[in-house]
Amino acid sequence: MSKMDDLGTMMQDTLEEAVLNYKHDLRILPNVKVMKMGGQSITDRGRKAVFPILDEIVTLKDEHDIILTSGGGTRARHSYQVGIDLNMPVGVLAEMGGAITVQNARLLQMVLAKHGGIFLDHLEFEKLPQFLRLGCIPILPGMPPYSFWEDIPDFGSIPMHRTDCGAFFTAEALGADTVYFIKDEKGLYTDDPKKKPDAKFIPKIHVDELIEMDLGDLIVERVILDYMKRSRFVKKLVIIDGMTKGELTKAINGEETGTVIYA
Ligand code: ADP
Ligand code: MG
Repeated sequence: MSKMDDLGTMMQDTLEEAVLNYKHDLRILPNVKVMKMGGQSITDRGRKAVFPILDEIVTLKDEHDIILTSGGGTRARHSYQVGIDLNMPVGVLAEMGGAITVQNARLLQMVLAKHGGIFLDHLEFEKLPQFLRLGCIPILPGMPPYSFWEDIPDFGSIPMHRTDCGAFFTAEALGADTVYFIKDEKGLYTDDPKKKPDAKFIPKIHVDELIEMDLGDLIVERVILDYMKRSRFVKKLVIIDGMTKGELTKAINGEETGTVIYA
């Protein structure tokens, strides 16, 4: 056996051992609070929705490390519509929708600038710990950067990994156990309460049970439920009403509010 073969076998053994011993135990920033600002549900409503919730975030920053991710909303949906009409593949749509989340992140950053809001693009992910140490509020565009490499959707034409997913994977990568979704409803209902006023509120539900219920419409991207089943770190999705003052603060301080989807 040549020296090269030896090395090859040794590396193979080490790799197998490493796979067996892998305990996924590097939690980079386990205490960080990753939250997504709803695009359609909050940012698109303008100052009446955005200013109060950002005030709340600024107060929370004194006690917590916060990372904010942006949503897409109506402009993203419009760009998907135009793109689909022109027969664009899903990767192009993802890139277009992603650009809208950059716009929204920029808006949030400028409003938060005097409180340490700082815009970070995906390539600056490694700078998150340092900016948190400096007392900043990092704001990331919410779209996960799959871009032209976006996976083929299970159904329909729009990217299945959008900004809820982006927040989820930000938290999972950092080793946080919870993701906070700031939306415009009390939480998850059995159906969209805007269309079905008699839909029932669900305060807490296990992800398996929610998948089993196979609801027609959800308040978070459906694909997250499957990822939750496999997540190493994220064990809770907390959905709160960002239009009601104090809800986010309660959730961040561990009080039961909104909907908790747990694994
Ligand atoms: P975002 O602004 O974060 O992108 P979305 O607009 O995608 O949020 O999702 C939030 C909206 O989802 C809510 O405003 C609500 O009208 C709708 N929705 C759909 N299905 C449900 C459900 N089962 N429970 C609660 N809200 C739902
Ligand atoms: Mg959405």
